[in-house]
Amino acid sequence: MSRLIIISNRLPFSISKQKGEFVYTESVGGVATGISSLVEPKERLWFGWPGIPDDRLKSEDQLQLTSELNTRGCHPVFLSNKHIRDFYSGFSNRTIWPLFHYFSEFTVFDENHWKSYQTVNQLFCDEVVKQAAEDDIIWVHDYQLMLLPQMLRQRLPRAEIGFFLHIPFPSFELLRNLPWRDEILNGILGADLIGFHEYDYVRHFLSSVYRICGIEHQLSKLVIENRHIQVDAFPMGINYEKYANSREDPVIQKEIEQFKDNGTKIILSVDRLDYTKGILRRLEAYDWLLTNYPGYREKVSLVMVAVPSRTKVEQYALLREDIEKIVGRINGAYGTIDWTPVSYMYRSLPFEKISALYNKADVALITPLRDGMNLVAKEFVATQNQKAEQGILVLSEMAGAACELSEAIVINPYDKGAIVNAIKEALEMPQEERLRRNLLMQSRISRYTVSRWANDFIHSLEGVKRTQDDLATKPFTELFQQEVIKSYTNSDERLILLDYDGTLVSFAKLPEQAKPDNEILTLLESLCSNSKNDVVIISGRDKENLSEWLGHLPLNLVAEHGAFYRLKNEPWKTAVQSDGEWKDMIRPILELSVDRTPGSFIEEKRYALVWHFRRSEPDLAKLRTQELKDTLLMMAANLNIGVFEGNKIIEVKPISINKGQAVQLWLDKKDWPFIFCFGDDYTDEDMFSALPESAISCKIGAGPSKAKFRFGSPNELRDFLGELISR
Ligand code: UDP
Repeated sequence: MSRLIIISNRLPFSISKQKGEFVYTESVGGVATGISSLVEPKERLWFGWPGIPDDRLKSEDQLQLTSELNTRGCHPVFLSNKHIRDFYSGFSNRTIWPLFHYFSEFTVFDENHWKSYQTVNQLFCDEVVKQAAEDDIIWVHDYQLMLLPQMLRQRLPRAEIGFFLHIPFPSFELLRNLPWRDEILNGILGADLIGFHEYDYVRHFLSSVYRICGIEHQLSKLVIENRHIQVDAFPMGINYEKYANSREDPVIQKEIEQFKDNGTKIILSVDRLDYTKGILRRLEAYDWLLTNYPGYREKVSLVMVAVPSRTKVEQYALLREDIEKIVGRINGAYGTIDWTPVSYMYRSLPFEKISALYNKADVALITPLRDGMNLVAKEFVATQNQKAEQGILVLSEMAGAACELSEAIVINPYDKGAIVNAIKEALEMPQEERLRRNLLMQSRISRYTVSRWANDFIHSLEGVKRTQDDLATKPFTELFQQEVIKSYTNSDERLILLDYDGTLVSFAKLPEQAKPDNEILTLLESLCSNSKNDVVIISGRDKENLSEWLGHLPLNLVAEHGAFYRLKNEPWKTAVQSDGEWKDMIRPILELSVDRTPGSFIEEKRYALVWHFRRSEPDLAKLRTQELKDTLLMMAANLNIGVFEGNKIIEVKPISINKGQAVQLWLDKKDWPFIFCFGDDYTDEDMFSALPESAISCKIGAGPSKAKFRFGSPNELRDFLGELISR
């Protein structure tokens, strides 16, 4: 039976060593809670760092820890102090964290940190691969492990891999600063399902994939080689009942009773001490409230919980100093014997105490400058369930939670005036209005709980896999491979028709990167050195390009989709008589598109005009493509030309020129006992249609096709050609 493998930076246990024994304390984080409530329970195995650097563990300690963790469904990935410094405090928390939260001024780009990030992701991969089977479901979590999905994909090509990012995904304009942006995106794209907390992050991710990797999505689905990848929003929820029923817990009741009720209204602030949380601005706004609205003095009190976090990172230590300075200043300026304007706690409080604070507070002031989700906001709202005195939430629009909590008083956290007004509005808001708003929010967050979140993610991951299986309708199975090899060996006359880009070589971003490598040159050479084989390369590229790259081989070449052909080592010939008067009509239209689309250009082939826009702003190019197609299609019928949309190009050429016509030259020669034909895009479909029934046609990659069979990628085709040659 397949298992669920969860991989996160930390295991769901904090581990310490007391009197020579390891002590395990279960953490009650969101992921652990969600996973423990999966509807269809599977055997689980959780991989993560146990929290103790391996330099502090003897090898017998590691063995003991591993076996004790194994009994708890966990498997440790041991990291050294250096890894923690460079991979965790370095790349994860000094590069990705600030950049993805829009703090480019704090972002460090350090080559050594990056190397460590790669090494540690590889370490995780190696550990997982030792234990995982291809039918396991693998769920990778968060920004420390963004390279892992692709690393796992390479080792376990058929595994079901999900990835969830718990922090925001920034806009392309921020991500483009990252020197390793391609690697990070490709790493994530190894997953079958990619989840974010909210749709804005989905949008940013898809737009970055489009602009950086050149891969366009259809309704948040991407197709890479033979894989369909789904990108979607799964807003993480909370254990709603736990907070909604917290007042019934006698321990929490006791905590609540301990608050002295002197009529002061409580404004609550709870966060990790992190620059993304907007704590300084929040304090400044509170200071402003007390300065400009003296009527609130001694009537309100700010209870601030700041949980220590990443204390080894300089910005966090400096921020702590600044926060404590301003807290001191406010208390010094306004405090009295009976009243402390800010009650400040620099520590983590247990659930009972946090819950008592949620119960007691009149206002929760949660104003992060950026936050992936913010669970505190949801926990506070859940706690107001059926309470006599309703507390109300003031929430930053920059928190992921704001999408679901729109009835809160939502503010821009950079606007101090707006925070002050929101605090006033919250303090003055009538009970019925607080109740009305809270009920609406509660009905939402009580449905999409952390358990629903985890179930929904796993269910969707299984759905993506099913879709992939359905679309891979014509796999080139091993059994069939053997049949083809047999038929190849038994035939004396074999016609082998091969497209070039996307078939023999992977699609390259820049044309020069598509040059044939040594492996493919050797394969082609061996293939055509066999006198029984007639090999034809049929490409959209021009004849100069093909001559330069492949001209030295005894191959047949077809250029510009059939406009030109070259039989083995003979000179190039043209297959078309038309002089192309149509070009004079079409060229000015394409020129207008060039003028209005910076970065685009026209390529003039003898029998075609091509408008290229791969270097243009993608959204503008999309708009222009639509306009251009509309104009061209109106003229196409009269001029006998076809308009074709390819990979970041629009190509216009006479209808008579296509790969189907081109292959006739060879098909008409004789009754071939063996025809093998490979292609990957729409131009190859004409060729597939022209083939006799007995031919074996194969499409490389996903998508509908007239071909009979499908290969996953150019690499799979190369392997197979290698196999044929060896016979
Ligand atoms: N929390 C806690 N004790 C504290 C402060 C916070 O247990 O003293 C918990 C809080 O209940 C919430 C989590 O820490 O579940 C913070 O999650 P959130 O998404 O708000 O912020 P993050 O720390 O993940 O950025």
